[in-house]
Amino acid sequence: MSEKRDYYDILGLERNADEKEIKKAYRKIALKFHPDKNPDDKSAEDKFKEAAEAYEILSNADKRARYDRFGHQGVGGASQGGGGGFGGMNMDDIFDQFGDIFGSSFGGGGGGRRGGGGARTARGSDLRIKIKLNLKEVALGATKKIKVNKLVNAEGVTYNTCKTCDGQGRVLRVTQTMLGAMQTQSTCHSCHGTGKLIDKKPNGVDAQGLKRQEEVVEINIPGGVEEGMQLKVGGKGNAGPFNGIPGDLLVVIEEEKHELLQRDGNNLHYEAYVGFIDAVLGASIEIPLIEGKAKVKIEAGTQSGKMLRLRGKGLPSIQGYGHGDILVHVNVWTPKKVSNEEKEILEKLKKSDNFAPHPGSKEEGFFDKMKNFFHN
Ligand SMILES: [Zn+2]
Repeated sequence: MSEKRDYYDILGLERNADEKEIKKAYRKIALKFHPDKNPDDKSAEDKFKEAAEAYEILSNADKRARYDRFGHQGVGGASQGGGGGFGGMNMDDIFDQFGDIFGSSFGGGGGGRRGGGGARTARGSDLRIKIKLNLKEVALGATKKIKVNKLVNAEGVTYNTCKTCDGQGRVLRVTQTMLGAMQTQSTCHSCHGTGKLIDKKPNGVDAQGLKRQEEVVEINIPGGVEEGMQLKVGGKGNAGPFNGIPGDLLVVIEEEKHELLQRDGNNLHYEAYVGFIDAVLGASIEIPLIEGKAKVKIEAGTQSGKMLRLRGKGLPSIQGYGHGDILVHVNVWTPKKVSNEEKEILEKLKKSDNFAPHPGSKEEGFFDKMKNFFHN
């Protein structure tokens, strides 16, 4: 028998591999050399066992540390393994490991999760509704009373114990998997795992003891929500079959567009138009807010494209970190038609060099403006 190979080499790992990498490497090798895939192949079986042993040690922080310090001798008897060379683990041990590596679908020890006790309680399905909010509701949050058409537990229903599973909700099944025969528990199809079947039910009640009914649900929506966001109202969905647990009510937010303020995250944009003369002489303009209005000063000599910021007048952050801003984009309005009289005045003004553009170094281009604006 040759020397025992290094555990890291067996799994093709670096010595600093983390838990996830170890698992992944082992999974790959175990599937490749699995006896079911390589019938009567002794060398595949050895490789399979070798990998399992390597995994057994490296997946355990304690054993791995000892192995790192002292090598094979540090982790005990495996090195004396007689017959097969990898006597440390037998096939049963190996398959026992599989539960946590390959997920519950591969069975392994199985059953642990539910602790083997009785039937399970069925859960009702989730319900999804849409709620439309205007900007003010988005900003301030809202409480909405919504009529929801849902399944509720009907009164007057009586139950019997399910005969298929004897009230256990589960049936035992033996399946052939890639990893050999496995005994698995599966949900009883007759009673959907509840262990109960309906005995008597009033008219209009379905086979799960439910009936449809309208119910008014109060929904509290926090400020700062956004289009497409989904809020969960626990336990307000459809009732669970056979007196089970109700599902959740999922509320999907729809935003009504504001006619003047355009949302961008928590900020709101507003396109303001000022007359050419106001831009020259300065003016005060009115800006719509989420609630009410604000007066904003336009400085004399304001260029088209200037941005003003109304700090904190935007929407609240849903996490509760303050508010966004309202960003006012100043557009200088150019008249489309002028009268002869106006034209005369303008022609006179045209002669003044003052009215010719002088975009010197002091005038920022659009991108500089954006840059400076967001660094303020
Ligand atoms: Zn059953």
